[in-house]
Amino acid sequence: MKRTGYLHDNRYLLHDTGPYHPETSDRLTAMYNGIKAAGLLDHLILLPAVRADLKWIDSVHSTSYIRRFEEVCLSGNRTFDYPDNQMCVDTYETAFLAVGGVIDVARRIMEGELDNAFCAVRPPGHHAERAQAMGFCYFNNVAIAARYLQQTHGVHRVGIIDFDVHHGNGTQAIFEEDPTVFYYSIHQHPSFAFPGTGREFEEGTELGYGFTKNSPVLPGQGDDDYRKLIESDLLPAFERFKPEFIIVSSGFDGHEDDDMSDINLSSAGFSWIMETIMKLGDQSAGGRVMSVLEGGYCLERLGELAADHVRILLGG
Ligand SMILES: [Zn+2]
Repeated sequence: MKRTGYLHDNRYLLHDTGPYHPETSDRLTAMYNGIKAAGLLDHLILLPAVRADLKWIDSVHSTSYIRRFEEVCLSGNRTFDYPDNQMCVDTYETAFLAVGGVIDVARRIMEGELDNAFCAVRPPGHHAERAQAMGFCYFNNVAIAARYLQQTHGVHRVGIIDFDVHHGNGTQAIFEEDPTVFYYSIHQHPSFAFPGTGREFEEGTELGYGFTKNSPVLPGQGDDDYRKLIESDLLPAFERFKPEFIIVSSGFDGHEDDDMSDINLSSAGFSWIMETIMKLGDQSAGGRVMSVLEGGYCLERLGELAADHVRILLGG
């Protein structure tokens, strides 16, 4: 059995998005209860949140953006930049705990304390751009972790795989000119889904051309279509790129029972995706796979999806 970390901390529940928002703290509770009910909690290494050092957030986001987020949050505003970015007075601090927790898990994997991990953090991050909050995201947790791995542990090539049903516009924008971070995303086609980016022709720019790959999926499609696209688009790209560490933007909102999309992935479909990612991790990254939570809003399904997810991290 693998040494699998599980970042779970009740302080991630403090980010309060109000009564009618899908990105609620109940998501993390549902995942925890599902993992516990499956009898997997005892096999995982439970890890607490850690507050991030500002310098790591600064490595991806502009200083003026970070200050603006702090000011808007602490002044008691309920939204930031867009009306769907609902927040409370604890949101700024919770976002620091999300980034710091993910960085601390990355450190533990690099130092050999863990083989891999699932980071159940809030707020999510993949829509957050350098100077823009979007889609319930404030700081880009996975992008900051990638920079941390490169600057502290000398990781040359970081692969990011994003299977959230929405395109991670923030992560793509942060790394589009960078050939040292490969961003792969599979998501509902941008003509039919937020945020409207992630078309096939978006392949990176400048030196980063060829290091971004997008697989848009049409509404109504599901397991078989995901399998074909992952086999034709992701596998050859990562076999060429040979990432030394894989960060996964894990979103469960493409589930057939999740109202947030028109994609029909089954629970077994999610398992196949994660098993495939684990094989890629074994090929070039010494099994170093760190999964970081993004979306997923069907409270009735999140428990079983999280349990399947960590079971695969543990080695099946
Ligand atoms: Zn999503």
